[in-house]
Amino acid sequence: MSKIADNLTQVRQRIQQCALAAHRDPYSIDLLAVSKTRPASAVETAYHAQQRDFGENYLQEALQKIERLNHLEIVWHFIGPIQSNKTRAIAEHFCWVHTVDRVKVAQRLSQQRPPHLAPLQICLQVNIDEEKSKAGCTVNQALPLIRAFAELPNLRIRGLMAIPLPHNSETAFQRLAQLQHHLRKESGLALDTLSMGMSDDLGPAIAAGATIVRVGTAIFGARDNRQSAPDHGAMPTN
Ligand SMILES: *Cc1c(COP(=O)(O)O)cnc(C)c1O
Repeated sequence: MSKIADNLTQVRQRIQQCALAAHRDPYSIDLLAVSKTRPASAVETAYHAQQRDFGENYLQEALQKIERLNHLEIVWHFIGPIQSNKTRAIAEHFCWVHTVDRVKVAQRLSQQRPPHLAPLQICLQVNIDEEKSKAGCTVNQALPLIRAFAELPNLRIRGLMAIPLPHNSETAFQRLAQLQHHLRKESGLALDTLSMGMSDDLGPAIAAGATIVRVGTAIFGARDNRQSAPDHGAMPTN
């Protein structure tokens, strides 16, 4: 039955080995299971194998799963591109948002966060390889953005997130960690989170200081892009 449970065990072992190799505490690294395009049943299977944090990229697809699974104590993370007209549903249904890169989006998320919920935990997405037409701020924009986010009452700025180019992600992870260090010093904020590393590069991400690795394929198997969730029109490219 549970390929997913076996895969989770293996990914946890990999995280532990990479942490020990980097002289880090394995418990300082959280595993975010990326469940985009997977059915609610796959999330439930992983949940019953003790996984609690799940990442979703596509809002409509995510909202259906969140509703279906609202009897479970899942911590939902939004890790997809954010259109400003979608901020209300994100602010209402997620605990974390990893992909904030604009003041306007941050302001809306803060305004729309329901008062009975804990502050929304956010990461600033950095376009660390300065790729054209890719989400994320530049390295130079990071400090003013972090300072602006820190002023917003219903958000808690936790750190940085990046999706580097695959071929030399190792140096990109190191640059993101250096930026985190610089921002901590300049802002005085704790910024304890580095969201970086996926199925293929979690080792170098952990070596560079990742505190959240976002893993889809290594847990749930290869994504079949032709069978994306039925309510999601556009085909995921990643
Ligand atoms: C899809 C995705 C992941 C997971 O990628 P895998 O290669 O399947 O592990 C991680 N982060 C983001 C932002 C994603 O979109």
